[in-house]
Amino acid sequence: MEDLKGENLFESVKQQLCTCSGTLAFNPNVEEVLRTPRREIHVALPVRMDNGRIHTFRGYRVQYNHALGPMKGGIRFHPEGTIDTIRGLAALMTWKCALYNLPLGGAKGGVICNPKIMSAPELERLSRAYIQAIYEMIGPERDIPAPDVNTNAQVMGWMMDEYSILAGRASFGAVTGKPLPLGGSEGRMEATALGGWFAVAEATSRLGLDLHGARVAVQGFGNVGYNAALIGPRDFGCRIIAVSDSSGAIRQDNGLDIAAVAAHKKATGSVAGYCGSEPLSNEELLALDVDILIPAALEHAITARNVDTIRARVVAEFANGPVTSDADRILFSRGIHVIPDFLCNAGGVIVSYFEMIQNADLDHWDAATVNARLRKKITETYREVFELARKNDVDLRRAAYTLAAERVVAAMQLRGWI
Ligand code: NAD
Repeated sequence: MEDLKGENLFESVKQQLCTCSGTLAFNPNVEEVLRTPRREIHVALPVRMDNGRIHTFRGYRVQYNHALGPMKGGIRFHPEGTIDTIRGLAALMTWKCALYNLPLGGAKGGVICNPKIMSAPELERLSRAYIQAIYEMIGPERDIPAPDVNTNAQVMGWMMDEYSILAGRASFGAVTGKPLPLGGSEGRMEATALGGWFAVAEATSRLGLDLHGARVAVQGFGNVGYNAALIGPRDFGCRIIAVSDSSGAIRQDNGLDIAAVAAHKKATGSVAGYCGSEPLSNEELLALDVDILIPAALEHAITARNVDTIRARVVAEFANGPVTSDADRILFSRGIHVIPDFLCNAGGVIVSYFEMIQNADLDHWDAATVNARLRKKITETYREVFELARKNDVDLRRAAYTLAAERVVAAMQLRGWI
């Protein structure tokens, strides 16, 4: 099965693991185990639509590896999802949790649907049906879902409620990314984007690039892209000169007013047509002469086909898998600094982990505490990856894979699996 744009995310992620297996001197058993998801759940979800007809949706949960603890990963609602996309994302969650020393394994879920044409009651019935179908295989000590593309705090609230009904007890820790009154954490909505900026700040300080006034383009204007565009100027003084969503892209060289762009998108459904901006295509946005390019939409935005057009000094992968393996090699050879996805966008899972701790302790931390702990984790891990990359003379992705895989392999050995 092919991914979006004919690329296959799972193949890409496996290829990336292979590139560091030399450094790690994996024995063949390790590679064999790490290249295959531990469990895949494929479900049919019959849901009554508002017109009275039943529509059967297809859903997946891929539980990749649980050597380090219960598995963790988002749930994506998307019309073009495939099992290989979910497998690739579940593998990335495994490396992300391991890299950040979280006591968690990796998983990912998805439902093939188009949420843009579904009503809120239909989405609620679908969310509950998904939890009913996978209930036996998830839970606070097995696998804890969270939001991803086209799912949000409200969807997590419904899922937590359905899990609690089936369990016969309040089980707030079964899902993260919940609304605040349902045990959600302060800072979770912004966490992926804020964490990404902490990584960018580390990178740019080493490159001697001043973030204040830096020119930035952001692809995607959902949870991650919108918050990235909002936080960049607010907390780091940079200028967002272009943004896009699935309907189009806009540019304004003196810097976009992101709150006003968001209001325009709320009113019209897209960032396109925002007053005073210049329209451009998504490909043109990626090719802009900017200091920092932030792909924050879907996987495989930058491929061998368009990599030669990229002119940014830094590519910060706020999305999962936005750069294919062959494009990655070319960016590295051209001296473009790529901050790899599972280093750059871990803020979401880190604050989800904080949410799990708060739920288990019946506690609630304030936003300053959450953000300070997030900054510490991202900064320390970035430094660790950077030092290893320098020592081994490799790119950040390879160094990050090395650290993450070493931890997963050590846990598998200690558990007697290999
Ligand atoms: P979202 O559904 O909130 O937003 C996705 C955005 O991408 C939308 O604005 C959509 O219009 C836009 N988009 C889709 N196709 C596009 C295209 N071809 N060109 C330009 N824009 C396009 O999803 P999200 O939660 O913001 O996730 C975005 C990325 O970040 C995904 O790769 C996701 O896996 C990753 N991520 C999300 C989280 C999280 O906490 N939500 C955490 C880590 C990583």
